[in-house]
Amino acid sequence: MVKIRSHILQNQTHTIKKEKILTGDRATGQLHLGHFVGSLQQRVALQYKYEQTILVADLQGLTDNGHNPHKVSSNILNVVADYLAVGIDPRETTICLQSAIPALSELTMYYSNLVSVSRLQRNPTVKNEIAGKSFGDSIPTGFLMYPISQAADITAFKATLIPVGDDQLPMIEQTNEIVRKLNHVAQDNILVECRPLLSKVPRLPSSDGKHKMSKSMGNCILLNASEKDISKAVKSMYTDPNHLAVEDPGQIVGNIVFTYLDAFHPDIAFVDELKVRYQKGGLGDGTTKKILEECLQEILKPIRKRREMFISDKAQLIEILRTGSRKSQEESNQVLNNVKQAFGFNLF
Ligand code: ATP
Ligand code: MG
Repeated sequence: MVKIRSHILQNQTHTIKKEKILTGDRATGQLHLGHFVGSLQQRVALQYKYEQTILVADLQGLTDNGHNPHKVSSNILNVVADYLAVGIDPRETTICLQSAIPALSELTMYYSNLVSVSRLQRNPTVKNEIAGKSFGDSIPTGFLMYPISQAADITAFKATLIPVGDDQLPMIEQTNEIVRKLNHVAQDNILVECRPLLSKVPRLPSSDGKHKMSKSMGNCILLNASEKDISKAVKSMYTDPNHLAVEDPGQIVGNIVFTYLDAFHPDIAFVDELKVRYQKGGLGDGTTKKILEECLQEILKPIRKRREMFISDKAQLIEILRTGSRKSQEESNQVLNNVKQAFGFNLF
C-alpha cells in the first residue's frame, strides 16, 4: 500500500497546461456508469492537457440532505476512490473538498445578492429537480441557491471550460450571468465567463429507460458493481416490447440495450451491424444483452479491482483531498479578495 501512496502523491507535471477546467460530483453516493460516460472518461483524457480541478461537492450534497448529513459525509471517500479507480491521477488533477475551502461559501454569499429568487426558481434544472423531490412547500434555501454555489465554485478557480452532462447547461448560463453582473459592479473584468463541454453521452438512462441514471434515484449500475449485479441489470433492460420473437423486426430507438451499446461498446462498426440485423429481424434480445453484458463486465472488472485497492487505504484518500484542498484554498482566496474589493470590503 505504501508504494501506491508515494506513487500517487508525487507531483511531477511536465506539460504546460493553460486553460482551467472545473468539474465536480455531489458526495451523495458512489459513482455510476452515467458518471463514467457522462464525465469521468472525458476528465481522464482532459487532465493531461488542461489544468483540471475536481471538487467533491459535499456542501452541495447537503442541499437536499440537511436532515441526513451522514449520507454525504460517508460518501466523500467513496467518490475519491471512484476517481482514482477510473484513472484520475492526483499528480495531474487537483482533487479537493468543497467544505474545506471557505472562500467558496463566502463567494456564494456575495453572489447571492446579485441573483433574484425568481431567477433561481426559473432555472430549468432546479425546477425539474424540485418537481422530482418531495420538498412540498419546504424547499431548503440552500437547495434553491445551489446554482449560485456552483457559480462560486467555477469562478473561484477561474475555470473557463466545464465538462458537464446536459442537466448542467442552465448552471453555466446562470454562472455567466453572475460573472457579468459582478464585473459590472467591479467596473472591471475580475471574473471570467465559462463555456460547457458536453460529453458524447450527456444523459445515460437507467435500465428501465424512464429516467436519467442518478445516485438519488437508486437506479444505478455502480462502478464497483459485482459481476452478478451487472448481469442482473443488463437482463432487466428495457428493449422493444413488440420484438416478441427472434425473427421479428425490432426497434432501435428507445431500446436501452442499444443506447448502452452505443455508449460503451468500443467497436462502432460492429454495433451498427447489430442494429441492421436487429431491425431486419433475426437477432434476439438475449444475444444483444449477452454482447452488452460482456462489454460492461470487461470495462468494470479492472475498475472494481482498482477501487477495492484504493478504498482500503483511507489515509491515502484523505491525504489526496487535504493536499488538493490546500492548493485550492490559496487559488480561491485570491478571487475572493478581488470580489470583496469590488464590493469595497477591503478596509484591512
Ligand atoms: P444526484 O442524484 O445526487 O444528483 P447524480 O447521479 O445526478 O447524483 P451528480 O453528482 O449530480 O450525479 O453529477 C455529477 C456530474 O455527472 C454532472 O456533470 C452530471 O451531469 C453527470 N452525470 C450524472 N449522471 C449522469 C448520467 N446518467 N448521464 C450522463 N452524465 C451524468
Ligand atoms: Mg445530479
